[in-house]
Amino acid sequence: MPLMKSWVESANAPDCPFPLNNLPYGVFSTVGGEERCGVAIGDMILDIAAAEETGLVSIASTPVFDVPYWNDFIDLGGAIWETLRARLIELLSEGSDDQEAVAQLLIPMASASLHMPIAISEYTDFYAGRHHAQNVGTMFRGPENALPPNWLHIPIGYNGRASSVVVSGTDVRRPWGQLKSPEHDLPAFLPSRRFDIELEMGAIVGAASEWPLTVQEADDAIFGYVLLNDWSARDIQAWEYQPLGPFQAKATATSISPWIVTKAALEPFRCDTPAREFELLDHLKDVGPMLYNIDLDVTMAPQGKPATTITRTNYNEMYYSAAQQLAHHSTSGCPMNVGDLLGSGTISGPERANRGSLLELSWGGKEPLTLDSGDTRTFIEDGDTLTLSGTAKGDGFQIGFGKCTGTLLPAFKDPFKRQPS
Ligand code: MN
Repeated sequence: MPLMKSWVESANAPDCPFPLNNLPYGVFSTVGGEERCGVAIGDMILDIAAAEETGLVSIASTPVFDVPYWNDFIDLGGAIWETLRARLIELLSEGSDDQEAVAQLLIPMASASLHMPIAISEYTDFYAGRHHAQNVGTMFRGPENALPPNWLHIPIGYNGRASSVVVSGTDVRRPWGQLKSPEHDLPAFLPSRRFDIELEMGAIVGAASEWPLTVQEADDAIFGYVLLNDWSARDIQAWEYQPLGPFQAKATATSISPWIVTKAALEPFRCDTPAREFELLDHLKDVGPMLYNIDLDVTMAPQGKPATTITRTNYNEMYYSAAQQLAHHSTSGCPMNVGDLLGSGTISGPERANRGSLLELSWGGKEPLTLDSGDTRTFIEDGDTLTLSGTAKGDGFQIGFGKCTGTLLPAFKDPFKRQPS
């Protein structure tokens, strides 16, 4: 599919992340203004709450966009998702009859603050990247036992915390926790020393259900995708994770990119999951291409220093699609809700340069990375800024998500007194 041309000139640049083909949904505010829904186009944001007020966009009998989340709109269902996208394309296409009226409702992105685009109802994190599971399993259990016996049959996951999902740009405080180093017999309560990222994609559930979903129904129920950094305290995790999985290690924060890229925008980039080592049971079998070809990278910048790209990979490295994860999640009859967030699991590729966490990049802290600034790193140090980017490359255009960035603040000196150290 070629570039769809817009009268918003900046949207037609081949390297613009927000062409007319994209139209991602976010929540923004300007100085002194309320948080409300907006749509990215080029270097501008369409104030869709204002477009609704003026009647340029008419989707429901009551307004749905003058609120700081997209849940109300998403809840209207897939047919309405298509109606809105078609109307936005009509309004913003080159030659639109409404150009003059719509131009009044564009706000420069540079003058806006971006907020959480959605009220997250629940957050579930999976462990569905083959190379990541192989790498981490090898480090913890040896190469023969790297993959647990269930891994090739179900996408393993755990229930995370929706309360600590934050939007890009939110600082993250280094947590305290109970750790036990191999050289000590007993645990101690200390600031985490092995704080890490996980490069993931997040899928936003767009339809409520209270019954098992087929893989096709699950794919239809997904509204869109965000970049996701699942911050992880590896030393807390190593002590607490057996037998119930991660708990406090993953509860500090999960960052997402500010723009939800819809499934419709990603349609031209669909691709297949990799070949299966074991045939999946029927209820989890692929019924079409349900992964996406999205280039991903992470940069790391020590405080006041330039950023270095520390990894490059692609969403197509996943073993299970978000649709398979959602289908599996619903098999028990677990109710799923609009605004549920599913983390893909860390997306690592086959080579060292494609690893999606510092745990893997530094091989458990044994092989430090050297950054362009000359600094070396095994895990994140105080003041470091980590930034995830994602790009689907089309024919003369790109689809972007906006950055997913966060800076690590030092641990509190005494976490119970909440005084910065
Ligand atoms: Mn994770």
